Amino acid sequence: MSISESVICEFERVLGAENVLRGEAERQSYAYDAALPGLSHPPALALRPESVGQLGEAVRLAYEAGIPMTVRGAGTCLCGGAVCGTEDGIVIVTTGLDRIVEINERNGYAVVEAGVRAGDFAKAVEQKGLFFPPDPGSLPACTLGGAIAENSGGARGLKYGTVKNYVLGLDFFTCAGELARTGARTPKCATGYDLTPLMVGSEGTLGVIARATLKLIPRPEASKTVWAMFSDIADMCAASADILSMGVVPARMEGMDALMLRPVAEAAQSENGQCAGALLVEVDGCLEQAEKEAAKVVRCCKRKGTLSIQVAENAKDGAALWQAHAAILRVAGDKGRAFVLEDATVPRTRIPELGAAIRDMEKTYALDIGVFGHMGDGTMHPVFLFDRRDAAQWERVRQARERLIETALSLDGTLCGEFGAGVLKAALLEREMPPATLALYKSIKKTMDPKHLFNPGKIILE
Ligand SMILES: Cc1cc2nc3c(=O)[nH]c(=O)nc-3n(C[C@H](O)[C@H](O)[C@H](O)COP(=O)(O)OP(=O)(O)OC[C@H]3O[C@@H](n4cnc5c(N)ncnc54)[C@H](O)[C@@H]3O)c2cc1C
Repeated sequence: MSISESVICEFERVLGAENVLRGEAERQSYAYDAALPGLSHPPALALRPESVGQLGEAVRLAYEAGIPMTVRGAGTCLCGGAVCGTEDGIVIVTTGLDRIVEINERNGYAVVEAGVRAGDFAKAVEQKGLFFPPDPGSLPACTLGGAIAENSGGARGLKYGTVKNYVLGLDFFTCAGELARTGARTPKCATGYDLTPLMVGSEGTLGVIARATLKLIPRPEASKTVWAMFSDIADMCAASADILSMGVVPARMEGMDALMLRPVAEAAQSENGQCAGALLVEVDGCLEQAEKEAAKVVRCCKRKGTLSIQVAENAKDGAALWQAHAAILRVAGDKGRAFVLEDATVPRTRIPELGAAIRDMEKTYALDIGVFGHMGDGTMHPVFLFDRRDAAQWERVRQARERLIETALSLDGTLCGEFGAGVLKAALLEREMPPATLALYKSIKKTMDPKHLFNPGKIILE
């Protein structure tokens, strides 16, 4: 089915012709997300609403006309969720909805439109002395709507939780193009069924998020960053476990193996010599708490035999270390290879077993696999490096990723710690969830999207 000219005229009437993008180059630029090389599909056209009203009209018109629609924030999604998978599907880009409507300092909430960039929002909130903790690695680029639709996590997950812990309420467009509201502007709201957590993480399959009310918390007074290198990855894991057993809940505790450490050490201009792995740990709170906890972190790391350990002198030096950590994916530039970033989440005591299984996969599939991740919440990100021109190697990456999923599940882990199911894991949900749960998913989908037009092929297969 192609989209009729009369429907296109309607879109142009509502959005302005300049916001109905039909050209080949424009369609191609919305064809992919950050998931896999080759996972791309140009939409029949892309719509770029500039207001909540226009977004609602676009949803209503598309739904009435039976057009499949994929909403897109910044397209940083790592599960193919922002790729429209059908010939006649459209992409609705939310970046024109970029207003921070309100930051209410005294009541501790903010109201934002879906297309606000998460990094811009975090800075705006910080300027008011408040804190919005969720920090996916894509923070500078991703939108809040995308982060909500993916229930994004990040390094601060253990202490501060994920996006779902900060969404007080949502305004979203239903299949009828009507604006539904969930939650309230108060920390408590027990009115009716709580639809907020249903929409958070729904990956654009149940409706289109237009606005969100987000919880803000006070900024911690102080933070301390510790950077420790180990000659044995087992010692690094043991040190992180010790830190937690001492009752310290770090704001961030990132572990990385030797491969992933290289770009970070380069950016930090620090020696990594014979290092097998490193920990970058941030503790925060009042000054006394941050200092005490940093001392405990140092003790735990030393007890496990660090090669070197450094406590950042001040917040600026700590921030510089975290800035260096943001360079971690430059590993991909190494020898001009491409990479696939995976998400394997297990209970944190099982990280060593997951790590051993990944080392085994490296040998079995003759691949370079770097690993980094959030040690406290058990989220590991294996990075599969490969040469795009080598089809046989790509096939081995596919097999290794399949093995990774099996391994994470066999270790009591989950299919999707942070990156969502999207198109990549939609067919695998039955490996984790029982039939009764899957049946409920399907009936919720049928109720909220009877024509199966909201992001088809993601989470729920028809
Ligand atoms: C380098 C890198 C590092 C990353 N690190 C992390 C990390 O540490 N933790 C983590 O959790 N994720 C991480 N991600 C994944 C990704 O960035 C997040 O999921 C991100 O929040 C998605 O935001 P986006 O605006 O790019 O959404 P998009 O990619 O555009 O969309 C994501 C999904 O949300 C849906 N969607 C978007 N907007 C709306 C809306 N308004 N209404 C309904 N549905 C909508 C889309 O249809 C799609 O299914 C990383 C990605 C990259 C590239």
